[in-house]
Amino acid sequence: MDGALGAPSTSFASEPLDSAVSAITKCPMFDPLIACGSVASETTVGGPAFGLTEDQQSIQELARKFTADEIIPKAAYHDQTGEYPTEIIKKAWELGLVNLHIPQEYGGMGLGVLDSAIVSEELAYGCTGIQTAMEANGLAEAPVIIAANHEQKKKYLGRMAEEPLMAAYCVTEPVAGSDVASIQTKAEKKGDKWILNGQKMWITNGGKANWYFVLAKTDSNAKAGGAFTGFIVDADSPGITVGRKEINMGQRASDTRGITFEDVEVSDENRLGAVGKGFQIAMGAFDITRPLVAAGAVGLARRALDEALRYSTERKTMGRPIIQHQAVAFMLADMAMGVESSRMMVWRAGWLRDQGQRNTYYASIAKAYASEVANKCAADAVQIFGGNGFNTEYPVEKLMRDAKIFQIYEGTSQIQRLIISRHLAESMK
Ligand SMILES: Cc1cc2nc3c(=O)[nH]c(=O)nc-3n(C[C@H](O)[C@H](O)[C@H](O)COP(=O)(O)OP(=O)(O)OC[C@H]3O[C@@H](n4cnc5c(N)ncnc54)[C@H](O)[C@@H]3O)c2cc1C
Repeated sequence: MDGALGAPSTSFASEPLDSAVSAITKCPMFDPLIACGSVASETTVGGPAFGLTEDQQSIQELARKFTADEIIPKAAYHDQTGEYPTEIIKKAWELGLVNLHIPQEYGGMGLGVLDSAIVSEELAYGCTGIQTAMEANGLAEAPVIIAANHEQKKKYLGRMAEEPLMAAYCVTEPVAGSDVASIQTKAEKKGDKWILNGQKMWITNGGKANWYFVLAKTDSNAKAGGAFTGFIVDADSPGITVGRKEINMGQRASDTRGITFEDVEVSDENRLGAVGKGFQIAMGAFDITRPLVAAGAVGLARRALDEALRYSTERKTMGRPIIQHQAVAFMLADMAMGVESSRMMVWRAGWLRDQGQRNTYYASIAKAYASEVANKCAADAVQIFGGNGFNTEYPVEKLMRDAKIFQIYEGTSQIQRLIISRHLAESMK
């Protein structure tokens, strides 16, 4: 076991602190290529090599370069102004870094969840607000990929592949987020049309979308599994009112709004799947998207680690770089442990889905765990920066503000635990 991770770590215990620190900073563990698995075959412990394919490495490098060139230089501007990153998204779309899982048949790249997770981590490293804006397309597209017929896919996914458009997923309402079964938006059938009435809240890309996936109640007497139906709704349909852009704690580049539907006519052609099957479709989308949200959290955590590591080698107190104080070095070690282990959960959840296996349990573990790692890493990075960490001139306070939402959207950490624990209980039956 003389791999990239093995060699430097074996020497830490016996060496003086100065040389141990120098070993840490030179350690290939902090080479981002290694940290992201591209030399995983050298580092495997007790099992077959776990590495990325050449294609996966290429798209990782492409996304990393794009992040360095296009996202990082403009992230603070979009955070401070709240301006939507239209130009950045357009460039990402041109490079094929958005809408990754649209099947090739409909003009997309047809990439898997693991491939997409690799890209999401890279983009999120630069700014999770910008990455969330891009990722929200994937969230809107997932129900269409799962349940749409050929014509619907051709029209709505094809459109996303032809032009740099945005889409949004409209499920949450002012009265119901975690409790999806309590949503009130109704769709009533009149002839060959459906009439939608209701109010959605916290919709990412709400003001930028070309079309929405909308979950609405179609049978008030049925239980959740039969009460709701999914629809694709053109954003320019008469009767839609888009609310103001919400001013959020973090991820401010992303566009979050309320959307009101007042007697909005939707053709039956835009019904997604069978009447009454909308709940399953809306929830099924999360098997694809939760690993990607979790990958975004890993990207943020990795950024926090990198910023804190760099700062801790430059900042001196009591005559030495603060990384030489064990309290600081151990915080960095904990951050590295979190980044590495949460990435593995993300990859496992994504890989399972790509193998055609049910991944709900692993997607929830990845989402809950990576969100918590991101929040801890961001808070620890602020701590390592001391007073500077609390100031907007330095990058880490943004990371701390941006991290919080990972524990809330696409199912809170409590809801992930509900899913995980129900799965455990089921496994005992
Ligand atoms: C920035 C942002 C972007 C978003 N983007 C979208 C989007 O694009 N599309 C969309 O549809 N939604 C979106 N959402 C909504 C998001 O998914 C919900 O906010 C989230 O699911 C929580 O719902 P809620 O806000 O109603 O909180 P509530 O459901 O009211 O929960 C409040 C608290 O109670 C806890 N809780 C609730 N029920 C339980 C339970 N059974 N057991 C234990 N604890 C429980 C929750 O974990 C939480 O801590 C977004 C939200 C934000 C803030």
